[in-house]
This record gives sequence, C-alpha cells and structure tokens, in this order.
Amino acid sequence: APRSARTYRLGLLEGDGIGPEIVPAATRAVDAALTAAGAPAVEWVPLPLGRDAIEEHGTPSPESTLAALDELDAWLLGPHDSAAYPEPHRSRLNPSGTIRTRFGLYANIRPAKSFEGAKAMVPGTDLVIVRENTEGFYADRNTHAGTGEFMPTPDVAIAHGIITRPAVERIAHTAFQLARGRRGKLTIVHKANVLRLTTGLFRDVCREIAEQYPDVTVDDYHIDAMTVHLLRRAPEFDVIVTENMFGDILSDLTGELAGSLGIAPSINVSDRQGMAQAAHGSAPDIAGKDLANPIAMMLSSSMLLQWLGDRHQDAGLRTAAAALDAGIARTVAAGTCTSDMGGSAGTTEFAAAVAAAIADAR
Ligand code: ATP
Ligand code: MG
Repeated sequence: APRSARTYRLGLLEGDGIGPEIVPAATRAVDAALTAAGAPAVEWVPLPLGRDAIEEHGTPSPESTLAALDELDAWLLGPHDSAAYPEPHRSRLNPSGTIRTRFGLYANIRPAKSFEGAKAMVPGTDLVIVRENTEGFYADRNTHAGTGEFMPTPDVAIAHGIITRPAVERIAHTAFQLARGRRGKLTIVHKANVLRLTTGLFRDVCREIAEQYPDVTVDDYHIDAMTVHLLRRAPEFDVIVTENMFGDILSDLTGELAGSLGIAPSINVSDRQGMAQAAHGSAPDIAGKDLANPIAMMLSSSMLLQWLGDRHQDAGLRTAAAALDAGIARTVAAGTCTSDMGGSAGTTEFAAAVAAAIADAR
C-alpha cells in the first residue's frame, strides 16, 4: 500500500534499568509494522526522563521534557527505578507518576491475554482491565495531593479515598466503548458492602452510564469475590472497570493468570494524549544483559498505534497495530522467545525476529 503523507511525532522516553533495551526493541518492531502496513511513518522524539535526566538537568522530571510532551499526542514510556535515585529525588513522586498526574491520563488500560506458545495459568484468558487512574485510595494521585495520607500522632496513620461522579462517568464511558468493540460484556468491580459511599458511588454511576449502552451486558462483583471468579473462570470476562487500587491489584492477578510480567502491556490515556507503558518495572537484576523480554513494551506500543488510529481515523495505523501483534505471535509460536518464557533469544535477537516476521508477512 502507498504511504500516506502524514507523519506522526511520537515521544520516546527510554527510562531506567531494562528501558534502554526494551524501548528500542519496541520502536524497531513499530517501524517494521508501519512499513508493512503502508502506514504513515513515525518521527521519534527522544526526551530525557529518569536517571539520565538527573545528571543532565538536576531532576528526573525536567520541565523541558514535560513541556515537549505537552505538544505531543502520544509517547512510549520505559520503566523507572526511582527507589535507586539519589536523594532528594528518591522521596519524590516518581517520573511516571508525575507524567500521569501532569497530563491527567485518567484511564489505565491493561489487557490480559494468553497467547499460543506461552505458558498461562488460565489459557484462553482474553480480558481488559480499565482502571481509574486519578483518584480512589491512592494518596499520591489524589486530587487533594498531600492530604491523602497523614499521621495525627506517631502511632496513628490515616488514608482517605475519593471518588467523584465526573471521574467515574468518564472512566465508565471509556470502558463501555471498549466493551462495545469487543465481546460486549462489562463487569464493575467495587466493595459497596463495606466502602458504601465511595465504591458504592462508583458502582451506581457505572450502572447509570450503562443505560446509554443497552448493547453491553453488565454485571458487578465485590473485589474479594472477583478474585475467586477470575481464578475459576477468567476466560468468561471481557472488560472490567474498577477504581485505582482495586485495578492495580486485580491487573497483577490477571496478568499472571494470562501469562507473565514480561508480556503484560498497558496504555494510559486522556481524551487528548496516550502513553504506552509495560506493566512491569525496570528489572534492575537483568538490566544491561540483553535478557529482557520486550513483548510487554511491544504490545503496549501496538495498543498505542491502535488508539492513535482510532483517534485520527487512520486505517494504516490500525493495520500496523494488527501486523505488530501478529508478528509477535508468529515469532513466539515458532519457538523464538526470551529466557523468562523458556527460550534462549536475547532482547535484540527477539526484536530482529519480530521485525523479520512482520516483513515476511507482507
Ligand atoms: P516496580 O516497583 O518498578 O514495579 P517491581 O519490584 O514490581 O518493580 P519488576 O522490575 O517488574 O519489579 O521485576 C520483577 C521481576 O520480574 C524481576 O525479577 C525482573 O527481572 C522480572 N522482569 C520484569 N520485567 C521483565 C521483562 N520484561 N523481561 C524479563 N524479566 C522481567
Ligand atoms: Mg511492580
């Protein structure tokens, strides 16, 4: 197919630990997929964030990087190991937290999908967690930052949670629209028998929004019961919408049910911008050894292409996203994978194999 004239500018924030290995592996696969799909080219915009930025700019989250991101639609974010930064940076909000807050990336979308050739505790799992990312019981992300958690005396610690109607409405719309494009099922997860006002409001507002989506089947479960249902019958779930902390915990569970940390992707989006971010961390224990599995970062990048394609009604980007997913699946099915999945390929070798698989399928 002929390439369209439009060029997308995508930010590239490599991050710490295995970031400088998995992010270039992902851009290599993205470039191959865009070419194969005849999609518009991407202009990568590298920006410092994290440990590199401390040396150059005296802070892990330089204002110049944040200002540059403000001009972009989308970017790839590598992991950050802020616990290893020198003080005072270690005690502050980590760079990915700073970015989520600064750009109001309110929807954290975390698919859990098992794939052929990879081990999975529950094969056949194919679900997506839609996690509200700005409020709930995460003190550091709360709108009332700084008052989310406090100690009135040295022996008493208090945390509060906040749920607001507008935030639930927008995350509910994100989740229902996603369900509509998938198997048409949405599950609301809450704890309205105990946290009656907060998570009760979350459930009730989601149920109200459900009336605008009569084509989507809705049910709801308490968070504790939900863990049991997922263990017993994960493949029956489609889209799950929940508040911040429940979503964080539940997505670790579903990620493990469907496969492993090295393959679990995510994107964080607002109505204006999107960010691809692997669900795993910076894996300092294997950094710099060409051992990291780049699949999670690659799948996150493909989700971002899909999101960008939907936003700009660009079929080329959507085709590229599908080509990228298929290239990864074919590579793994052919027996090439990194050591965490039982294979012997290095990060670079795996990325080359995916790029070749994508080019071969043209
Ligand atoms: P964070 O606090 O940043 O979330 P974490 O403590 O959850 O970090 P990770 O960095 O995610 O930890 O790593 C957990 C384990 O999984 C480590 O042993 C790491 O090597 C392994 N791991 C994480 N990501 C990958 C990957 N992409 N490929 C291979 N192994 C990985
Ligand atoms: Mg972690």
